[in-house]
Amino acid sequence: MSSANPCLTCGACCAFFRVSFYWGETLSDFLVPESLTEPVSPAKMAMQGTNQAQPRCIALEGEVGGCVSCSIYLNRPSPCREFEAFDAEGACNRARAAYGLPPLAA
Ligand code: SF4
Ligand code: SF4
Repeated sequence: MSSANPCLTCGACCAFFRVSFYWGETLSDFLVPESLTEPVSPAKMAMQGTNQAQPRCIALEGEVGGCVSCSIYLNRPSPCREFEAFDAEGACNRARAAYGLPPLAA
């Protein structure tokens, strides 16, 4: 069985959910690049491309299900840092299913 990180050939969660977070996460050069965000409420920003009917984060490089990466990985916002990868019963597999990708076991 391969031990490769399945996220590297997936990216479904980056093209399935709205990625919103407290605007203060854009305040420093070391945090989320503001130029890649848009306001969604007085206190919240979202990654551009994720606040729409068919989301796709502007920072996602590659095609879902292929070789993908996050162009701001070290500066990605908190929802991305906290997202539970390989959550067999949860959001990860829901996103994968939307792209016809097989579920991951817990
Ligand atoms: S949907 Fe799951 S496997 Fe795919 S990139 Fe996101 S966390 Fe990784
Ligand atoms: S910032 Fe990176 S990890 Fe977060 S949704 Fe966008 S591409 Fe995915």
